Amino acid sequence: MALINDNFTKLPGSYLFSDIARKVSEFKTANPQSDIIRLGIGDVTKPLPPSVIKAMHKAVDEMADASTFRGYGPEQGYDFLVNTILENDYKAYGLDIATDEIFVSDGSKSDTGNIGDILGLDNIVAITDPVYPVYVDTNVMAGRAGDLQANGKWSKIVYLPCTAENDFVPSLPTEKVDIVYLCYPNNPTGTTLTRDQLKVWVDYAIQNKVLILFDSAYEAYITESDVPHSIYEIEGAKEVAIEFRSFSKTAGFTGTRCAYTVIPKTVMGYTQSGEKVSFNKLWNRRHTTKFNGVPYIIQRAAEACYSLEGKKEVKATVDYYLNNAKIIREGLSAQGLKVYGGINSPYIWVKTPNDMTSWQFFDYLLHDLNVVGTPGVGFGPSGEGYLRLTAFGSLENTKEAVSRLKNISI
Ligand code: PLP
Repeated sequence: MALINDNFTKLPGSYLFSDIARKVSEFKTANPQSDIIRLGIGDVTKPLPPSVIKAMHKAVDEMADASTFRGYGPEQGYDFLVNTILENDYKAYGLDIATDEIFVSDGSKSDTGNIGDILGLDNIVAITDPVYPVYVDTNVMAGRAGDLQANGKWSKIVYLPCTAENDFVPSLPTEKVDIVYLCYPNNPTGTTLTRDQLKVWVDYAIQNKVLILFDSAYEAYITESDVPHSIYEIEGAKEVAIEFRSFSKTAGFTGTRCAYTVIPKTVMGYTQSGEKVSFNKLWNRRHTTKFNGVPYIIQRAAEACYSLEGKKEVKATVDYYLNNAKIIREGLSAQGLKVYGGINSPYIWVKTPNDMTSWQFFDYLLHDLNVVGTPGVGFGPSGEGYLRLTAFGSLENTKEAVSRLKNISI
């Protein structure tokens, strides 16, 4: 008799996006003429940059020739990509990371989820609230979360509220925690931490032997100079932080799949008896055992993002989305709505007017203006009273949505 992992039975269904889809489809059936604009999507819409496509074509041709064909590659990524990442994302910022501290993978979703494999089950986990749901759900699956309570929180997880009241800057935990997930620029709030604010976390982690899991999937959207591009810009972070980066939102790789994780050899975990063990060593063992590498063609595609042309093209796409974000932010502010994010991020976090709940505001936008957002409460209890809009649509749709939002009357 095969027993299941009971933790999976604790997970509620992923109601958020299915509830949204159901509500939109019911509305569409009742109002077939309506022209709905979706500003809820977290996926990119612009195609891959031309340099990336060119590199992929070339790599495909190499795969067709016995002399250049590649089979299994190094699980950690080909040298050509690892070295390119190192030069452009770290050395260019004066950061000293070694090639064997970078692990190329098929996505930050997989990496932020799988990292739990090398973490003990007794660790107390802290998350910012609202949060990218993968951090919570994967800890539930592993058995670190405890039970879901009536207030929407898991009993063993420490929640660090991020709301307008604290300017979306999480306070340090007051209870003992072992691991904290930080995601900056943040999904869903679109807010950031400055270098000084992140330093508070790094100092705390050093003093309390806390591991920081730093998700930097939206690094490419940083426009302000006091926002760090990497946590390793903060002194001491190489002792306490693992960093996750992705090509998904940077260069349109959501369907192409490439990311990487940085684990400095100096980041230590502890055995039950208190001996230090490098997380790098454990992750290398895990990665080479459970993963057989990102396809050669895709790694060549990722490498092309760093060529002179590639960089220009990637920037043009990011700028396009950031311009959409600006249009949404400014358009909604002009309507008297309180909006956050959207400056270093493709996400705009809107405070619902007149104390409406997230779902009431969602329903109003759908029914009266035919615009779809994502109810903030779906990202955690502290998301109640907010709604997430994204800048990943077309310029035309973004402008149309904002002009509809000018008719807001609540
Ligand atoms: N991390 C955050 C915060 C995200 O918002 C996303 C995607 O939405 C991911 C990671 C997933 O990235 P990837 O496509 O590399 O799996």
